[in-house]
Amino acid sequence: MTLRVGVIGGGQLARMMIVPALELGLEIKVLAEAHGSSAALAATQVGDYTKFETVAEFAKTVDVITFDHEHVPLEILRRLEAEGVSVQPPSRALAFAQNKLEMRRRLHELGLPMPVWAAVQTADELQEFLNANGGVCVLKTPIGGYDGKGVRIIRSASDAQDWLEPDALTRVGGTLLAEEKVSFVREVAQLSARTPSGDFATWPLVQTTQANGVCAEVVAPAPGANAETIAHAAEIARSVADGVGVAGVLAVEMFETPNGRLLINELAMRPHNSGHFSIEGSVTSQFEQHLRAVLNLPLGSTDARAAWSVMVNILGVDDRNDFVSGFEKVLGEHPVAKVHTYGKGARAGRKMGHVTVISDSLDFATTEANATAQALLQG
Ligand code: ADP
Repeated sequence: MTLRVGVIGGGQLARMMIVPALELGLEIKVLAEAHGSSAALAATQVGDYTKFETVAEFAKTVDVITFDHEHVPLEILRRLEAEGVSVQPPSRALAFAQNKLEMRRRLHELGLPMPVWAAVQTADELQEFLNANGGVCVLKTPIGGYDGKGVRIIRSASDAQDWLEPDALTRVGGTLLAEEKVSFVREVAQLSARTPSGDFATWPLVQTTQANGVCAEVVAPAPGANAETIAHAAEIARSVADGVGVAGVLAVEMFETPNGRLLINELAMRPHNSGHFSIEGSVTSQFEQHLRAVLNLPLGSTDARAAWSVMVNILGVDDRNDFVSGFEKVLGEHPVAKVHTYGKGARAGRKMGHVTVISDSLDFATTEANATAQALLQG
């Protein structure tokens, strides 16, 4: 009997699940938001994931529902679960990936390390938090933010006047999340996977670099991380995964502080940009592992296939650069670089693809991955 996975959302994450699904002989279906999506290669149906009937009909055609993004309303998922549909990760876990305040509250209950934070609803509460935290903070909308949208550094409550207006506040759930501005030495991410029965696997801790709030480069493993930090990061991921009941891939994004502490920034309960390196860099990629995990199959080995993997994102420059013009030349000049493009229409800042280079030399992998991405951008 063929196992059937249904993915809600037709972005690049769903697209990259297609290859391992074919390899494993799984059937993969996608509920995409529009025609011509990144994942259109799979059996794709277009529909509105905010309509219960649409999602319920889709769910009837598969054995498990999983996600390319975190935006499906929880009420819909709870109804599906009540009707016996396998939703992985389940709604009770996903609630913490959809709402940064709920995530902070749960991580606090679990006693996990985080930046100082507070829920604020008024300018006075925000000013009080600023006064107690050196006059600067990172203010976040708890829902609806991504790639740095919904994140703002502020030095006075008046910097957030527009977000504190009643209508704007209602749209994001009535409360904002204020966090201490962490002086981190770098950002890292711990990727892991958990099955519904509780099997668990981690990849090595990776270093992530963001540009304008968007992931730009990932180095696996995180250079210079000591054994204690590596073990601690894996323990944090395990505590989060068990503590919120994740099924599938979990990414825990963290800040590393000058004194070596790890503080959790945010969680993603799906394959994540910090794990794209694993397609070439690991025995089992995050996309294959996600499929195994949501189907409650045994997890694959996460052993590295090379000492270093470097992944560089290709971000759209404008609405014309589609990487077609220089494509052939770039492939010819960079034969060891693994080039991935997502079949998306060009737009400035949009994640259009990525490049991974695996090597025994970190210098070579870094230089070659960046040179290939640059060459693609220049066309
Ligand atoms: P998004 O949901 O858009 O990914 P994040 O909460 O991850 O937003 O924030 C985006 C970026 O902003 C982070 O990668 C980090 O560089 C910076 N940032 C977020 N929170 C803090 C914080 N508390 N202190 C310092 N920098 C932060």
